[in-house]
Amino acid sequence: MIQLGRVCTACSAATSVVTRPTETEVADMSTGADRHAIFPMWKHMGLELQSLCNRDCDWCPRQMDKSGIRKTPHGYSVVQEMPTDKVHCILDQVYALGFRGPIHFHSLSEPLLDARYLAIATHAHVQGFLIEENTNGDILRLNTQLRKQLDGVVDLFNIGLYDCKTEAEESTLMDWWRSAFTKSIVTFSRMSLGSPRTRQNSLLYNIRSKDQRVLEYPCFSPQYQLLIRYDGEVALCCEDDTSELSLGNAFREPIEDIWWSQRRIDVALTLRKSGSRKAYPLCKNCYVFFGWD
Ligand code: SF4
Repeated sequence: MIQLGRVCTACSAATSVVTRPTETEVADMSTGADRHAIFPMWKHMGLELQSLCNRDCDWCPRQMDKSGIRKTPHGYSVVQEMPTDKVHCILDQVYALGFRGPIHFHSLSEPLLDARYLAIATHAHVQGFLIEENTNGDILRLNTQLRKQLDGVVDLFNIGLYDCKTEAEESTLMDWWRSAFTKSIVTFSRMSLGSPRTRQNSLLYNIRSKDQRVLEYPCFSPQYQLLIRYDGEVALCCEDDTSELSLGNAFREPIEDIWWSQRRIDVALTLRKSGSRKAYPLCKNCYVFFGWD
């Protein structure tokens, strides 16, 4: 085991030590228990059911995309579903590994656009997963029956308040959403009056001022999130929509082999150190900071 010191940015004192397995140790990980001891399982999972969103928000990286993942080079939206058998196969795999959530079914997409959402969420709920979903709320607001059917199936809805112009409007809308569910918890993303994250490839990224200190911050996201795109590609974090680091494809490789790969462990543990973002093209201009540790 290789030990890596972490240094406090304020006083330059060593604050803790992270350990990194050697290549041989990772190769020797023959049992689940060994793997968990060396690199813990993710804490949050995204399993994206389909590629589309009905909105085009200026803080969202999908707006500027022309890679063929969200939009074509001509700006048309990509419409693709994760096959249902793959959804169930992945859920079964992570369940067998001991994961029970929280899980969500979107990435840069609106999950409720998927006609299978109710069936898949119900299946995952019965299986025992905790579901925490982000939605722009447009489908749910129009569909009373779907709201009733999903009440309590989805444990938590985080609803985007994207169109409010005043705090009074926000407050009225929040009250409406809270009264619409009796079992599911409802929280809110205050995107219009709050402060959305500054995400690469979004319109906002190019025009807003950015706190340069964040580029020196460590990043814990890759250690805590397992994110699978609609085509099976596994991302490093929610900013890695193009799966730039080629960490694996969940349609072709077992989830545990992807998560506990030498590559993933190396990148995740490197990013736990202050000043490490510059090691990866994806990270060196990233102003996103999650305070997990
Ligand atoms: S620094 Fe940014 S791009 Fe890199 S892993 Fe963290 S959140 Fe993702």
